[in-house]
Amino acid sequence: MHTDARQLDNNTIIEGDICIVGAGAAGISIALEWMNTKYKVILLEGGGFEYDDKMQDLYAGKTTGQHYFPLKSVRLHYFGGTTGHWAGWCSPFDQVDFKERDWVPHSGWPIKREDMDPFYARTQRILDLGPYEYGLDYWKAQDPEIKPLPLNEEIVWNKMWQFSPPTRFNQKYKDVIVNAHNIHLYTYANVTNIAANENVSSITQLIIKNFEGKQHTVKAKYFIIACCAVQNARLLLASNEQSPKGLGNDNDNVGRYFMEHIEIKASELWLANPASVKLYMWQQGVKARAELAISEKMQQQHKILNGTASLIPLELARNQQSFIETWSEDEAENKRTMSGYGSKKADLKIPSDFNAFQLFTRIEQAPNPNSRITLGTEKDALGVPRASLHWELTGFEKRSIRKIHELIGQEVGRAANGRVQMLSYLHDAKDESWPKFTGGGWHHMGTTRMGNDPKKAVVDSNCKVHGINNLFMAGSSCYVTAAAPNPTLTLIALSLRLSDHVKKQISNT
Ligand SMILES: Cc1cc2nc3c(=O)[nH]c(=O)nc-3n(C[C@H](O)[C@H](O)[C@H](O)COP(=O)(O)OP(=O)(O)OC[C@H]3O[C@@H](n4cnc5c(N)ncnc54)[C@H](O)[C@@H]3O)c2cc1C
Repeated sequence: MHTDARQLDNNTIIEGDICIVGAGAAGISIALEWMNTKYKVILLEGGGFEYDDKMQDLYAGKTTGQHYFPLKSVRLHYFGGTTGHWAGWCSPFDQVDFKERDWVPHSGWPIKREDMDPFYARTQRILDLGPYEYGLDYWKAQDPEIKPLPLNEEIVWNKMWQFSPPTRFNQKYKDVIVNAHNIHLYTYANVTNIAANENVSSITQLIIKNFEGKQHTVKAKYFIIACCAVQNARLLLASNEQSPKGLGNDNDNVGRYFMEHIEIKASELWLANPASVKLYMWQQGVKARAELAISEKMQQQHKILNGTASLIPLELARNQQSFIETWSEDEAENKRTMSGYGSKKADLKIPSDFNAFQLFTRIEQAPNPNSRITLGTEKDALGVPRASLHWELTGFEKRSIRKIHELIGQEVGRAANGRVQMLSYLHDAKDESWPKFTGGGWHHMGTTRMGNDPKKAVVDSNCKVHGINNLFMAGSSCYVTAAAPNPTLTLIALSLRLSDHVKKQISNT
């Protein structure tokens, strides 16, 4: 069922069993789980079904620290959310990513990789991926032309990625959601405030507003906030009527630990002879490919972060500008940006075997309380303080990138007579500065981090806000650490886990 909230009488009260805020990757995935149940589900989406610049402007905000993409264009503010932009690259986190690592401060999830496996498997279908198979042997069996470099996997291993078409949630799931009898989708229903009871132990209602000057109230038993990592923190911080520091923020953790993947060219790899590298190449239409990853043993031995390197033919990569240098505010409207990027690459002829590559790294950012989302002084057109991002990198990330490429150099040298030449910005081991092409992957994580201790975390292991019995946060804002893979597969898996938990809770009431 669909209602445009602009058409409702002012001050309408909407009531249901559960209320999901945000119809993006996380919110729609959760709503699908509740279809055809006996529960009345309210799905609130700030935007409509199409891009609208006025709506998108609600996302604008300041950035300081390490140069970052404009906040206005890094996420999409309408039904389907940022799946209108995403490129579809998916891989699960490794076991080590969930562990407490004594060399990575603030690491350690209250759940393990095994806890996530059933939910990863369910997410494959939502994202139109293949079977839940990320082992090299499975993909070798599918394609005899796949020939991995003969690496010692105790040092450098082949981590597999799968590629979603990419699934655009606004196209694939619009009719499914609109036609579901128990899902009540409201568009132009921008949540501007979350209100709690007097002792802030329970959420009583949400306020939604739109540009028609109307305001409505939403009541439910459970509330799930799925607005993306920047907006999730912003909404909690801005909901400060009962809690002056913001909801869930008694211990000043909301908005802190903002993490991105650092995505950066780092070295050039030369093999002595042209080799078959089909396994490592990405082109449009490819179902799976590998990146070079560093084993858990090596990460521990060298006290480095988790990261991978992908191989790009040098002749394609050398003169390409990074996205951080070219991406502008206007990219929000250009919904074809990533597919355009893909097809440009696909047009270029990639020879079947060759020997010179750029090694491009995606590495986790270490959890850092100073890297954070706060509220700015300016308000948006609906009266909500804008988000402000301070993105802060440290020498730990840079040292880790250098060591990853040293290890890859040593291993391809031994195994395939290859040579790795690091780019000049990595030469000086003491230098902690970052070159202008240092980018992020448009991946936002960590702003409502998970943990058992309410002093150190915002949500518990089920993504419930500590101290508030019916408020849940969905998405990568709950991540404790960022791992190397792009976040969407994991954030949907985590959302399905959250959803199962709420189902159990509601059936017991
Ligand atoms: C160019 C680009 C490429 C990417 N490529 C990849 C990739 O290859 N692989 C990968 O894993 N990830 C990728 N990502 C990241 C991916 O898009 C996000 O991880 C994912 O969309 C986040 O899902 P989400 O549901 O948390 O947020 P979103 O998908 O952004 O959805 C949030 C929803 O909440 C709504 N909303 C926000 N505020 C409010 C409010 N106050 N009231 C009501 N509704 C609200 C929004 O309108 C939106 O519909 C990419 C991102 C970009 C920008």
